[in-house]
Amino acid sequence: MTRKLLAALLVFSLFSLSPALTFAQSTHNSQPKPLVFTHVTVIDVTGAPARPDMTIVVSGESIVALGKTGKVRIPKDAQVINAAGKFLIPGLWDMHTHLSFYADTKQPPFTAFPALIANGVTGVRDMGGRLEQIDRWRKEIADGTITGPRIFQAGAYVDGQKEMSEFRASLTIVVNNPEEARRAVVAQKQRGVDFIKVHNGVSREAYLALAAECRKQKLLLATHLPRSVRVAEASDAGTKSLEHIETLIESVAFDVAAGEKTKDPLAAMDEFTDEKSTALFARFAKNGTYFVPTLSSYRSFVQDAERLVATDAKYKPAAEGRKKLFQRFVQLVGLMQRSGVNVLAATDFADKSGGRRPDVSPGFTLHDELALFVEAGMTPMQALQTATLNPAKYLNIRKNYGTVEKGKIADLVLLEANPLDNIKNTRRIDALVLNGKYLAKEVLQKLLADAGK
Ligand SMILES: [Zn+2]
Repeated sequence: MTRKLLAALLVFSLFSLSPALTFAQSTHNSQPKPLVFTHVTVIDVTGAPARPDMTIVVSGESIVALGKTGKVRIPKDAQVINAAGKFLIPGLWDMHTHLSFYADTKQPPFTAFPALIANGVTGVRDMGGRLEQIDRWRKEIADGTITGPRIFQAGAYVDGQKEMSEFRASLTIVVNNPEEARRAVVAQKQRGVDFIKVHNGVSREAYLALAAECRKQKLLLATHLPRSVRVAEASDAGTKSLEHIETLIESVAFDVAAGEKTKDPLAAMDEFTDEKSTALFARFAKNGTYFVPTLSSYRSFVQDAERLVATDAKYKPAAEGRKKLFQRFVQLVGLMQRSGVNVLAATDFADKSGGRRPDVSPGFTLHDELALFVEAGMTPMQALQTATLNPAKYLNIRKNYGTVEKGKIADLVLLEANPLDNIKNTRRIDALVLNGKYLAKEVLQKLLADAGK
């Protein structure tokens, strides 16, 4: 192909992307100069105390210098931002998302990206969806065509034979036995997924085979607990994470002989005592099993039930049951943290706002999750770590992400108030640095406003 023809094709392909391109021009600035914050308080989330009056230098996509203001050389062509009175934390991660459920139902595809970015969410772990769509988005994010977070993705769910909608079936690989489970892992690896997400319909034998194959293929496994598997067993089998707090109670509720009725969730909850849970959580800690409670997602079920009660009092007992379970779930997260389990912040949002869970929305709800973790007994520092340091450890990308340190990729959130005083201050976002690029408050607000159109 001649160079001229190649150039013509490139121009053509740029024009064919024009709607996305317009969007990109409003947000994507190429950050030609080094970026410097002076007089900022740095919360690096390593557990070290906040360090006031710091200067941080970002060049290209990385943090190249960090030290006391006055002690750090400022490059002479730099864009310098006086951040006195402000607080710098790492970019946040939502570790359980579904970005692509409804992507093909809207033109141009609806994305959660503006809401995520405007809320300081610079990374997500996508837990089941359309692999090719997300691959395309990743490419567009990488080349600056659109503004979005870093994405790790599972692609399709691996599940067992169970009742599911046609829509869900289109995103699912069904495995009926150990051999199919092993083959699914290999096939997903070949498709380029970052990890395997297994769902609750898989048989015990298939699950154990799948977990073993993931270890063999060095693929991380994320488990929505299969009904036939106990939670301790999944941890022992080497799953890297367990998803959703309610699966702890389900694990007890479903632990019945074949043909026997499952236990009532509240009865199962009473059986799941502090003593039992402490022993279980010690086991998670020992096995290195991360836990992803998605408390805010469960809370949305409580809110749904409360709305129903407003229409008909007959829903009252169900609503009270859910509320009681939710209160216990919050306690259990506190117990988990005290037992040394690595907890991850996540919302389980799906991309369609007002969709299956109206109270769970991209970006905004992650801040609710952090606040719930503090209610559960975490310190604000520990809560911050569930969305920064812990995700980086879990994804094995700590070398470049997860803290504010020299040498790391510059994904940073500048806050107007101290999140260590009040975790709710993570919402008070003044600016974002995304892959080294500065996005001022006005840019973030414009992103949200444009997305709302
Ligand atoms: Zn999910």
